Amino acid sequence: MKLADSLIIDARPLLPGDCGEDVIGFFQTYPNASLCPIVDAQRQVVGHVSRVKFQNRVAQPFGRTFVERKTVKDLTEPQSRSLLRNAQLETLFEGDAFETAHLIQDGFVVVDDDGLYAGLVTGIGVLAALNELASGLVADLKREVAERRRAEERIRRLAETDPLTGLGNRRAYLRSIEGAMDRDAPFACVFIDLDRFKSLNDQYGHAAGDAVLVEVSKRVRDFKSTLASARLGGDEFALILSQPEPSSVALMMAELHDCVLRPVSVGNACVTVGASIGWAEFPGDATTPAQLLHAADKAMLRIKAAGGGTTRFNETLDFADLNRTKLETQLRAAVFADAIKPALQPVADLHTGEIVGHEVFARWPNSGFSHDPSPSAFIPIAERAAFIDPLFWSIARQVFDAHPTPQGFLALNVSPSQLNATAFAARMQIALEEFGLSGEQIELEVTENVLVRDGDAVVRTLNQLRDLGVRICLDDFGTGYASLAMLTRLPLDKVKIDSCFVAPSEEHQKHGEGQILEATIALCRKLGFQSCAEGVEDQQTLDRLRDLGCDLAQGYFIGRPALLVPDRPRRVAVA
Ligand code: C2E
Ligand code: CA
Ligand code: CA
Repeated sequence: MKLADSLIIDARPLLPGDCGEDVIGFFQTYPNASLCPIVDAQRQVVGHVSRVKFQNRVAQPFGRTFVERKTVKDLTEPQSRSLLRNAQLETLFEGDAFETAHLIQDGFVVVDDDGLYAGLVTGIGVLAALNELASGLVADLKREVAERRRAEERIRRLAETDPLTGLGNRRAYLRSIEGAMDRDAPFACVFIDLDRFKSLNDQYGHAAGDAVLVEVSKRVRDFKSTLASARLGGDEFALILSQPEPSSVALMMAELHDCVLRPVSVGNACVTVGASIGWAEFPGDATTPAQLLHAADKAMLRIKAAGGGTTRFNETLDFADLNRTKLETQLRAAVFADAIKPALQPVADLHTGEIVGHEVFARWPNSGFSHDPSPSAFIPIAERAAFIDPLFWSIARQVFDAHPTPQGFLALNVSPSQLNATAFAARMQIALEEFGLSGEQIELEVTENVLVRDGDAVVRTLNQLRDLGVRICLDDFGTGYASLAMLTRLPLDKVKIDSCFVAPSEEHQKHGEGQILEATIALCRKLGFQSCAEGVEDQQTLDRLRDLGCDLAQGYFIGRPALLVPDRPRRVAVA
C-alpha cells in the first residue's frame, strides 16, 4: 500500500453523500493511488477504498449499483452496518435486523474480510432484489401451474373421451352423475345396450358397425332431455336425462327407444338395431354414482333378457342375486354355528316291515327368513360357496352324537365335491372312532354327478369308505343322463329309485315310468345291489313295491322326515 499517494488525496476529499463516480474520478485523476480516502464533514479520514477491490466490485452487481445510483453516505453513517461479502443475504433479516429497521432504508456497506470497502447495498435494494426475484419466481410458477393445468385438462379430456364417438367414457359419465347429484335436482340415469349389434357387425363389417355407433351416439346426445351422454364400451351407452313429471318418464324412455331404433343408413344399405334400455332414478333408486349406474345396468339386463324394450330399476327383481348373497352369508353363519339341523326319515325293509335305518336331511329351522329355506334352495348355495363339506360334518356330528337314538343305519347325503377331497375317508374314520360307531352303521348317498370331475379320485375315496364298512348308495337313480353306466363304474351297495318312477303320475305312467321301476328293481337284483324306493305316499304303492321284490322303501306313508332335535321346546303337561 502506498501511503504517500493516499495522503495526497487529502487535497480532494470525498464528502459523505458524494457519488461513487467520484471514487472513479479519484482513481482516474490519481492513476498511482491504490487507496481512495473517505473523509467526514470535518475532513477527517474515516476510511479507504482500495483500487483493486473497487475495480473488482465495479465489475460486479454491487459495484454496478454503486456506480449507477448509490452514494457513499453510508460509509460515514454511525448506524451503518457492515456485512461480509460472502454472507447469505438472509442473515440481514435475522436477529436484531428488524429492531433497527431504519438500516433497511439506510443500507449496508459490503466489506471484505480485511475490512475494506467492497460495495454498497441498501436494505430497500435487497428487498427490491428479493421481491423482483420472488415475483419472477411467482410469475414463472403461475405460468407453469397454468400450463400444467391446461396439459392435465387435455390429458383428462382424452382419457375421458371415447375416440370413436367423441362421447365421454365411463369415467366421465360417473363424474357427470356426481355433478348432477350435487345439483340435487331429480334425474334419470339411463343404460342403453344395443340388440343384435354383433350380428350387424358380422353381416355388414366393422366399418358399418362403427357408423351405427356414431349415429346412435349423435342421436342420444341430441335427445331433448339429455344432460350428459357417454359410451361405456362396445354397444353400451349411458345418459343422464333431466326428469320431467314422474308420470311422463316412461313416455320419455319410449321416445328415446324409438329414437335409437330409427333406421341408420350405412353406405347403400339401411340398417336397424334394437335396444334394451334400463333406467334408475335419483334420488329414489340409489345414492352414489356407481350404485345408480349399477341399478340402471341391472334393469337393462332384465329387459334385455325379456327381449328388449325399456324398464325402470326394480330392487326386488334386479337385486335377486344380492338377496342370494345375503342368504349365503346367513347360511355360512348358520353352518358354522351348527344351526343347520338333521332331520331323519325312516327307511323300511319291505320283506320284514321293520324300520332298518334313517336317511338324514338338512334343515334350517329358525332361519329368520319368512319361510325357512328348503335344502333344495340352500344346498346348491353351500356347494357353490364351498362350505358344503363343513355343512355335511356339522350335520353328521349332530346325528352321530345322538346315536343310537335312531334305529339302524344312518344314510347321509354327500355332495360330489366332497368326494374329490382325499381326506374325506380319513375324516370319516376319525369321526366314527370318536363317536364309537362302526362303518356298517353308515351309508353315503351319492348322485351320478360325482363322476363329473375326477372320477378316479372319487372311486378311490368310495373304495376307502367301503373298506371302513360304509355302504355306498346311488341316489336319484334314473333322473340323470348316465345312470346305467354309473352302476358299473361306481363301487355300490344300494340303488335308490327316484320317486318319479315310484309313484308316477298318470301322465308319467303313459311314458312307461311303471315299467322302468319294475326293470330297475330286477336290474338291481341281477347286479347284487339292494333297491330302495323313494317317495312312497300310499299303501297301494307300498304293496306294489313289495310285489315287485323291492328291498327297501321310504316316503311320507312310512314316515316324514323329523328333526332329530326339536327346534321348539315340547309342551309339558301340567297336573
Ligand atoms: P333327496 O336326497 O333325493 O331327498 C329326498 C327328498 O324327498 C327330501 O327332500 C325328502 O324330504 C323328500 N321326501 C321324502 N319322502 C317323501 C315323500 O313321500 N313324498 C315327497 N313328495 N317327498 C318326500 P328334501 O329334504 O327337501 O331334500 C331335497 C334334496 O336336498 C335331497 O334330495 C338332497 O339331494 C338334498 N339334501 C338334503 N339334505 C342334504 C344334505 O344334508 N346334504 C346334501 N348334500 N344334500 C342334501
Ligand atoms: Ca338322498
Ligand atoms: Ca333321492
